[in-house]
Amino acid sequence: MSDVRIDDLPIRDELRGKSPYGAPQLDVPVRLNTNENPYPLPEPLVERIAERVREAARGLNRYPDRDAVELRTELARYLSRTGGHQVTAAQVWAANGSNEVIQQLLQTFGGPGRTAIGFEPSYSMHSLIARGTGTGWISGPRNDDFTINTELAEKAIAENRPDVVFITSPNNPTGTAVPAETVLALYDAAQAAKPSLVVLDEAYVEFSHGDSLLPLLEGRPNLVVSRTMSKAFGAAGLRLGYLAADPAVVDAVQLVRLPYHLSAVTQATALAALEHTDTLLGYVQQLKQERDRIVRELWTMGYEVTASDANFVQFGRFEGEGGAHAMWQRILDHGVLVRDNGVPGWLRVTAGTPEENDAFLDAVREVKNEQE
Ligand code: PMP
Repeated sequence: MSDVRIDDLPIRDELRGKSPYGAPQLDVPVRLNTNENPYPLPEPLVERIAERVREAARGLNRYPDRDAVELRTELARYLSRTGGHQVTAAQVWAANGSNEVIQQLLQTFGGPGRTAIGFEPSYSMHSLIARGTGTGWISGPRNDDFTINTELAEKAIAENRPDVVFITSPNNPTGTAVPAETVLALYDAAQAAKPSLVVLDEAYVEFSHGDSLLPLLEGRPNLVVSRTMSKAFGAAGLRLGYLAADPAVVDAVQLVRLPYHLSAVTQATALAALEHTDTLLGYVQQLKQERDRIVRELWTMGYEVTASDANFVQFGRFEGEGGAHAMWQRILDHGVLVRDNGVPGWLRVTAGTPEENDAFLDAVREVKNEQE
C-alpha cells in the first residue's frame, strides 16, 4: 500500500483538504437517501433498451452521433409536450447527467476569475462543480422557511455581480419550489448587474404541484433550464441530463464539451426510455401521493416538515443531543438510510415504495417512542 496522501501530490491549491461528493452507499434494507426513483424500469422498457442497444452495438466501431440529434429531438418533443412551451432540438443539449450539463455551463460561463452564486442550503454539486472548474463560489441567503428572499437575493446579485446564478426549483434538500416572479426578478437583477447566465435547475420539476418554468425561456437568452432523466424517468443509472435554452447557449457549450461525450449506448438507452414516457410518468403520480403521505404522517407525529414539491421531504427539527446526525443514526439503526445533508436540525427522506415509506415511518415512530 502506498502512504502517499492527496495533499502530498502537486494538486491545485483550492482542492487541498477538500472532500469529494459522498452520499453514503450503505448496504441496508431501506435506502431513501439519494432521491432515486424506487421503481425498477418496467420489463417492456428493459426489452426495448436491449433491442435499441443491440442495434447500437453493431455500430460501436464508429464514434457516436456527436450532436445526439435524434435524442435531442425526442427530448425537445418531451419538453414541448409537458413543459407548457414549444422547444426545438436546437434549443436542447444533453450530457452524462445534469451534473455534466452544469459542468459544461460552468466551463463555458464560469472559470478562473469568474464567480457563481447559489442560495443555500441547495444542491451541493453546484458549489463543488464551481470549485472543480475554478469558478469562485458565493453562498447567497434564504429565509428561515427555506424560501428565497427575493429582496436579499437581488441585493446579493447586485453586490457580487456573479457570472452565473443558480436557482434550484424544486430545491434540494429542502423541496421548496421557487415562484416564477422570483426567477424573473433574479434574472432581471442578474442582467442589470453583469449580464450573467441564470441556470434554473429543474431536476425534480415533474414531482412539483406547479408547472415547469420552461415558458420563461421566451425572450431570455441568458436563461437555461436544466433537467435530468435520473428522477422522474427513474433512470439514475443511465446518466442522462439535458438543458433547454436559446440555441446560442447550445452552440456555446460546444466550445467545451468533449467530442463524442455521449456514448451510442447512452443515446440508445435514453431514446428507448423516452418511448415509455407515459408509463414512467405514471410512477411519478404514485410517488407524489406517497410524498404527500410522508409529509402528513410526519406532521401528525409532531415533526416540522418543509413544504415539498420534490420526491423527498425535509423534516426536523432535531436540536437535542447530537442534533440531526444522532437522529440519522437512530433511524439507520432501524434499517432505514435517510440523508443528513448538514442542514442544522434537519434530515431528508426520499419517497420510496409504499412499503419502504412504511418502514421509514415505523422507524421514526419507534425512535420517537424510545425517546419519550
Ligand atoms: N440537480 C439537482 C437539484 C439534484 O438534486 C441532482 C441529483 N441529486 C442533480 C441536479 C444531478 O442529477 P444527475 O446528474 O443524476 O442528472
